[in-house]
Amino acid sequence: MRYETGNEDIREGVRRLCTDFPDAYWRQCDREQAYPKDFVDALTKAGYLAALIPQDYGGSGLTISAGAAILEEIHRSGGNAAACHAQMYTMGTVLRHGSDEQKKAYLPAIASGELRLQAFGVTEPTSGTDTGSLRTTARREGDTYFVNGQKIWTSRAEHSDLMVLLCRTTPHEEVAKKTDGLSVLLVDMREVRDKSLTIRPIRTMMNHSTTEIFFDNMPVPAENLIGEEGKGFRYILSGMNAERILIAAECIGDAKWFIEKAASYASDRVVFDRPIARNQGIQFPIAKAYAQMRAAELMLREAIRLYEAGNNPGEEANLAKMLAADASWAAAEMCLQTHGGFGFAEEYDVERKFREIRLYQVAPISTNLILSYLAEHVLGLPRSF
Ligand SMILES: Cc1cc2nc3c(=O)[nH]c(=O)nc-3n(C[C@H](O)[C@H](O)[C@H](O)COP(=O)(O)OP(=O)(O)OC[C@H]3O[C@@H](n4cnc5c(N)ncnc54)[C@H](O)[C@@H]3O)c2cc1C
Repeated sequence: MRYETGNEDIREGVRRLCTDFPDAYWRQCDREQAYPKDFVDALTKAGYLAALIPQDYGGSGLTISAGAAILEEIHRSGGNAAACHAQMYTMGTVLRHGSDEQKKAYLPAIASGELRLQAFGVTEPTSGTDTGSLRTTARREGDTYFVNGQKIWTSRAEHSDLMVLLCRTTPHEEVAKKTDGLSVLLVDMREVRDKSLTIRPIRTMMNHSTTEIFFDNMPVPAENLIGEEGKGFRYILSGMNAERILIAAECIGDAKWFIEKAASYASDRVVFDRPIARNQGIQFPIAKAYAQMRAAELMLREAIRLYEAGNNPGEEANLAKMLAADASWAAAEMCLQTHGGFGFAEEYDVERKFREIRLYQVAPISTNLILSYLAEHVLGLPRSF
């Protein structure tokens, strides 16, 4: 199999680290819906979560292909980076739009692991995909913003010190476009948790440590405003390509895991006195999943190439995310079918990964919204909303 190459030392290092967190570890976390703290700590200690933070701020100063390689290898090994992947892209909001003081204050502490920036508060129960209609407000009084409202699906909030929060600072009625008047605050949750900030876990079909959070006049120092007031939507958008690329890399890692798992099982499993892999009815779906994965991987590589050359590859990053999510979901379905009844047994890990990978059809952006982007922004079809 000719897989993606590049960043070989990093890939090898991540693979080695992952051997300390075998399938049994992930199975137990899944069963208990427990946060994989030891894994995240090990990844932080080894510096992998600081890969994209510039060296001046204590990180490794690597480019996005390194971040993608790290996340892909975690997923390919059977693990799940959802517990910590957001730090790679939420950090980018501070890096690109924060002031020098904010960068000096936060990035080195994030790089060392002293502070965790895992929470990203954008989605709300009533606004959903329509981010511009979000209702959480931040009202400024003197040197303090007071935040009121609610977010949902704020993953890892219980395991994070900081949160990148998008909220409305100018009322809907006073802005030309509903995406204007939104601002990004960097919230230090340690100071407000269980006071003006309430976090409630949401149990989901896979282990994801996601939550809903409530703000009751939560104070945030005005110095924690990222960039300019009212331009927050643009700042969040500017991080989307990186997010799409990194999530696509996770999907590619999962697709490889499913393909390898299916090929290995099919070669070992004997039915009618021969390995089931000798039947083309079993071989072809595995080969097809491989072809689909490779095509998605090429698109991911193209998105990374353009991103690293300083372009804004909205089209390619969206394509890579959608094709990789589709490829991994198709590989999951194939792998479960190849395993027959055993695919449903916990100890084979297929059903766990099957549940985990389904998410990427919906989050962090749903397939429909990517198709809408391609239709309207790439193909020039009329706007539908
Ligand atoms: C486990 C999990 C973790 C998450 N983590 C985070 C997080 O950390 N931070 C955060 O801010 N958000 C997070 N999200 C939220 C996630 O980004 C949203 O669920 C996703 O963007 C879809 O929004 P929604 O669920 O509100 O769906 P809705 O917007 O209610 O949409 C429902 C369905 O309708 C479709 N749809 C909506 N409008 C259109 C249209 N115009 N045309 C065609 N189809 C349409 C959508 O594609 C979707 O399939 C998470 C979600 C989950 C499930």
